Amino acid sequence: MVANYDFTNKIILIVEDIDTSSRFYKAALKNTNAKLILVENGQTAIDVFDSSNNIDLVFLDLNLPDFDGFEVLKHIRSKDKDIPIVVQTAYMLSGEEETSYELGANDFITKPITIDILQKTISKNMA
Ligand SMILES: [Mg+2]
Repeated sequence: MVANYDFTNKIILIVEDIDTSSRFYKAALKNTNAKLILVENGQTAIDVFDSSNNIDLVFLDLNLPDFDGFEVLKHIRSKDKDIPIVVQTAYMLSGEEETSYELGANDFITKPITIDILQKTISKNMA
């Protein structure tokens, strides 16, 4: 049985280019009442982040179509040293986890991501 977390009034920026993954995150977080902002590339992620001041957590895919997710991570961390950033990737490439933490990620998870893992990881890192 999947635990039901309550993220009412929380805003999560989800950076994910694969539509099936975005739809999964939406469905998996529906019953938590989180407000989701879904973006498909690094530039939009940066633009949205820079023009918002109320995002509570960033859920960031490393493999994006325009540029490296590490660049997004660096940018966000340079603007906000406290916002929780969870990095997720489909492939466990050598050094990606270490680099993510070095650049200021709070957590790092690899696909496949279950509803339980997703909710638990967000809950653990949510400010
Ligand atoms: Mg991707």
